[in-house]
Amino acid sequence: MTDSTAPESSNQETRSSIFQEVIGKNEFDDRIDTQSDLNTLEALRIIGRSLRQISSEPKLFSAKVILELGLIVPALYLPWLGKIVIDNVLQQQPFNTTEIEFPPFMQPVLTIVQDQDPLQIMLTVSTIFILGMVVLGMRTYGLSAGLHEGQDAATQAENRISASYSEGSGLWGLAAFMVGVRLTQRLASRLRTRLFERLSRMPMSKLDDQRIGDSIYRVMYDVPMAPDLFLQLTIVPFFMMLNAGINLYVLQYSYGEVSPELIWIAWATVPVAFLITFPFSGAIRRTSQNKRAAGSATTNAMEESVSNVAAVQSLGATGEQSSRFADRSEESFRRERYFIAVVIVCSCIFAAVSGIAGIYVIILVSDLIIDGVMSPGDYAALIGIFWSIAMPAAYLGAYWIKIQDVIAAVRRVFFFMDFESEEDHKDGDECTVIERQITFENVGYSYPNGTRALTDINLSFKFGDLVAIVGPTGSGKTTLAYLIPAILQPTSGRVLIDGRDAREFNIESIRRQVSYVLQEHTFLSTTIRHNLLLANPNATEPQMFDALETAGCVDFVAELPNGLDIRLGRGGDTLSVGQQQRLSIARGLIRDAPVLILDEPTAALDPQTEHFLLRSLRRAAEHRLVVVIAHRLSTIRQADQIVFIEDGRVQETGTHNELMVRSTSAYREYVELQNVAT
Ligand code: ADP
Ligand code: MG
Repeated sequence: MTDSTAPESSNQETRSSIFQEVIGKNEFDDRIDTQSDLNTLEALRIIGRSLRQISSEPKLFSAKVILELGLIVPALYLPWLGKIVIDNVLQQQPFNTTEIEFPPFMQPVLTIVQDQDPLQIMLTVSTIFILGMVVLGMRTYGLSAGLHEGQDAATQAENRISASYSEGSGLWGLAAFMVGVRLTQRLASRLRTRLFERLSRMPMSKLDDQRIGDSIYRVMYDVPMAPDLFLQLTIVPFFMMLNAGINLYVLQYSYGEVSPELIWIAWATVPVAFLITFPFSGAIRRTSQNKRAAGSATTNAMEESVSNVAAVQSLGATGEQSSRFADRSEESFRRERYFIAVVIVCSCIFAAVSGIAGIYVIILVSDLIIDGVMSPGDYAALIGIFWSIAMPAAYLGAYWIKIQDVIAAVRRVFFFMDFESEEDHKDGDECTVIERQITFENVGYSYPNGTRALTDINLSFKFGDLVAIVGPTGSGKTTLAYLIPAILQPTSGRVLIDGRDAREFNIESIRRQVSYVLQEHTFLSTTIRHNLLLANPNATEPQMFDALETAGCVDFVAELPNGLDIRLGRGGDTLSVGQQQRLSIARGLIRDAPVLILDEPTAALDPQTEHFLLRSLRRAAEHRLVVVIAHRLSTIRQADQIVFIEDGRVQETGTHNELMVRSTSAYREYVELQNVAT
């Protein structure tokens, strides 16, 4: 990437300009998810897919719908109660002085109040109002979990994950709201778990250190947007439309004859709201997608620095790391500002248009009241009804805009869910016990960044053999070994398991056959026992002891304060490197799998433990395939087959003795050099 001979300052510049370039081109600082454009068709597809998630919670969903239906009631009565208070209480007029008719659902109330005097009417209306308030509540829109929400993904996600909407409050509204919260949480939790499962099965080449922050961002901040999307697409618009529809009907019924223009204006609000906001939706989706990518990059930068804190400090690179973080953080904020600006411009235009319509309605109604066609009480009723129509209309217009952000988030979730399914051959056959051989046929492998690690590998590893892979650092040994349990998959050629292409098998089932002791040992920060059981949950106490003994762990484990039950630090860092390596070998041995692979296991062992380990590996190889990547001659010598690789190519294979007697042998040169070195 950067020229190593260039002076430090220009190095810095190149680095930040690379960053600028990556971000500036709307390409994510993220290796796989490089597409930032999201067209309307894809948006609709994502919406369809989100809707299908609801089928997993049919009961809660129906409960929510039924409860919400009840909440339409208060909105219907409220404007008419207002009219009665103004006309028949304050102005003390009798009923039916104008042509305006009360809608049918008001008849029960009218029969009660018709012959009452104004004071009694007020008492009746107040009683109905108070009862209604307690049970059904005043109508509210878009009630949410109610945390103070900032323009950051964290609080937004927190609010979204417990989001609910209810058209009402009161006791009924509370029940409806809580059912809604439960529904959102269930959906989010299910989706979050599924995404987590997918991520934990991602091919290692895709899920390296740089991806961790991004994955966290997706699981924590993007997922909660999905249930919000289902709700926003089902319950919220449905009830808004239903409300608007009923109110339009009422408007038509009572005022249709005296003022047909009113009806037209009310009807027009919905499509106009949509027309105004629609052109902005593409821009909002893109900016949202970009701000989320930048948020991921920030999380990545933080994760990387914190998890490599020792390296960063030992290299005195804290300043450089901080400025890298600052860059990303600033970029993320810049995109957030852009996003906010687009949203604000959009809502301003909408507010202006609906404001003008509102003023026109007020003028129209005032005229009609002055002319005596309507009474002042109609003003109250009409404003109430209009509110019930214009609010949903405004909301639905802004709504298409709002869900663009959500769609962008949900896309990031679905992207990962789909991504993996291409590679994991879920429908593949079950790979039962491997028992004959593993064959490499013209296998080549290039890493996603283009590094060619293996070329033209033709090998056969037989069961019952101890195979040693030997070669200089960087020659491709680890890459070759990764191909066996399909941690990596060949970019050309094929790997055959007992004569069948590994691609025909379901990957999980191949991995169950292989126990792999990684070159970099990784432990979870729980007890040693739990770490061992991770490899084989059914391991008995004697099996554990055997494995610990073979790997030379017994002495140091016995000296630990809690023995096997001591908690390890993050990544096992409360043990020395040598101890970690031994423990890692023990863990590999406990997993009683047909194929055992050890990547440079003996580097940290003393000669005696090494000898002991080799003896048990030899024993293990009698009914297994054991592949060891090794440097030490003492280990290599024991092998039934030695594979010597250099620059990603197999140079020689054979036993130690066979290779040593060849006249020209790269292996012999390598061994002789090693001998001089050690
Ligand atoms: P060995 O185990 O023999 O030391 P590896 O198999 O780890 O070698 O690496 C072989 C080559 O592939 C090296 O050139 C290395 O730089 C490159 N390589 C290893 N891992 C990656 C990776 N994740 N991305 C890109 N290149 C890699
Ligand atoms: Mg290696």
